[in-house]
Amino acid sequence: MDRQPSSAARPILTAEVLSIGSELTTGETADTNAGELARSLTDSGVRVARLSVLPDRRADVEGAFRAGLERSDLIVSTGGLGPTPDDLTRESIAAVCAETPSVDPELERWLRGLWERRGMPFAEINLKQAWLIPSARALPNPNGTAPGWWVDRPDGRVVVLLPGPPREMRPMWRDEALPPLRDRGLGSEQAVRTLRLAGIGESAVAERLGEAILRATNPVVATYARAEAVDVRLSAVGRPAQNGVPASSADELLDEVEPVVLGAVGAYVWARGATTWAEAVGAALDARGWSLATSETATGGSLVSLFGARDWLVRSETVRATPRPGGPADLARTAARIRTETGAEVGLAVAVGQRGADSAVSLAVATPDRVARRRSMAFLGGDQGRLRSALMAAAFLVEVLRAEP
Ligand code: ATP
Repeated sequence: MDRQPSSAARPILTAEVLSIGSELTTGETADTNAGELARSLTDSGVRVARLSVLPDRRADVEGAFRAGLERSDLIVSTGGLGPTPDDLTRESIAAVCAETPSVDPELERWLRGLWERRGMPFAEINLKQAWLIPSARALPNPNGTAPGWWVDRPDGRVVVLLPGPPREMRPMWRDEALPPLRDRGLGSEQAVRTLRLAGIGESAVAERLGEAILRATNPVVATYARAEAVDVRLSAVGRPAQNGVPASSADELLDEVEPVVLGAVGAYVWARGATTWAEAVGAALDARGWSLATSETATGGSLVSLFGARDWLVRSETVRATPRPGGPADLARTAARIRTETGAEVGLAVAVGQRGADSAVSLAVATPDRVARRRSMAFLGGDQGRLRSALMAAAFLVEVLRAEP
């Protein structure tokens, strides 16, 4: 016979999230809980195997708990903990555990106290929120009337029931569920590094990295096309010693793969982690104690909105499209002019023109020693083209600043 691991011995490495409520399956409410929980679990090194959205239907909810408990170490549900008959989460997990709910006297006192404090008569229907089963303990809810449940299964798996309203769910997850889960051994030792790339599309990044790297499961190398960058995310979980192969920490695994990734796409990396363009430009200027003035033409102000208000940005001119746009030499003069006019060490000028469906972008950066120019095409016109031209301007500026002697 298989020996069941004791609850303390079962680490929590995999999880599923169930979002319960017909208002979710009808599209009336957007499910934000699942994403937040998935993020939190992933950050803790837990592999989230699936997120499911379910209507208030007992058979569906029960089936989802049953199936989840076959697959995963932890199930976290949100919703369906209210007092009304269509709130079925407690009944469902009780049935899965083959246990009968009963009113917990302590919870009942607390619940009745809430109504007394408000001077309102207590409707007996609310007693459902004081239910427990023998396998469950209550998770306090300081922001509502529905306590959560922590359910221990005999094989060491855990089920956590949280209320649906995000303002109740979040603090209960953070303060009541996560700490004991961590004490139990939540997730594997893990490490994440993100490289931010510019000047290359996601498909070209994928092609350079190659299938072998992109399909590997530990470390995982994944590409994400974001508005401001193509991100390459490297993540790994620590590997125990196995079959004579010594153990590797997550960081050691990333140390192995990172040079391979940099060898393929390192030339396009402009930052790491969650660095924004404004932060990258700010850091490049700060390294020399310099400040910046900008002039943008026909960009709809996208450069100034990309940077926002910054100490190092002494002036930002926004010029509408001119009927007869000047050539690159004009732009270089503009970059030099705004430097002199403002006393900033660096001037950046960018102009955009529509070229068919795309945008022609002209760039000039004037520093104390030189003026650098570039022309290129941005994919798409309109707002997209204008945004991309601002990103190109920021990328060119960082490139020029980093190349300064
Ligand atoms: P309570 O009865 O105390 O409100 P509950 O657990 O019964 O808690 P539900 O009735 O399922 O929660 O949902 C209550 C409200 O919470 C919904 O009207 C909705 O606004 C919000 N909500 C529920 N589930 C989600 C979700 N997955 N994502 C975002 N909001 C949600």
